[in-house]
Amino acid sequence: MKTIGIDVDGVIRNFHSQLLLVARILNPKLKVINDFSDYWLKDAIALSREELRQICHHSHPRQVFVDAHSYEDNVLFLIELMNRLPDYEFVAITAAGGYNNEHLTYEWLAKHELNFRRVIFTSGDKKGKEKIDLLVDDSTANYKSWCKRREDIGNFLIMDRPWNQDCDANRIVNLGDLLKGEYVLAGNSLDAHKLQRSYDDIFKI
Ligand SMILES: [Mg+2]
Repeated sequence: MKTIGIDVDGVIRNFHSQLLLVARILNPKLKVINDFSDYWLKDAIALSREELRQICHHSHPRQVFVDAHSYEDNVLFLIELMNRLPDYEFVAITAAGGYNNEHLTYEWLAKHELNFRRVIFTSGDKKGKEKIDLLVDDSTANYKSWCKRREDIGNFLIMDRPWNQDCDANRIVNLGDLLKGEYVLAGNSLDAHKLQRSYDDIFKI
């Protein structure tokens, strides 16, 4: 059985917009720019990465990790994939754990009816150590770590977001693209033909 790792924040959970919203509510005097392109919102609000981490991991984790909206198209597509591809193991792989906040991500996944076989909590730079055949992630830094640890760099797919435009990994714009042969064929680790059939079926092509 092949394993597909799906990062949570930035792929299926809209962590960035929610963190910005909570930060704005907590700091009403700070100017906020919604159109940001830095992973840690450097160009959106004058709060440091540490201050933002304090909000999401310590002071207001529930407001960030449970109340965040989904990227709805990706969630709907993923549910379809999980139902239709029982031969593949889908695992959530996320750095949102730690600080006794893991239950909040389980709660968010349950709220969105996402039944991952497993949820792996690990830091972004260690995702390449896990036994997964393909990873969808939104972090340029995580791609660089993946490349240092593994030879199958084509099996890291970057989810197109404003904050990863500097990343030269294979790029997808939604999880539907996951099933297009040019991506899943990387390393020949997945059954691209079977996935493509499912893609066609789901979208009635
Ligand atoms: Mg992410």
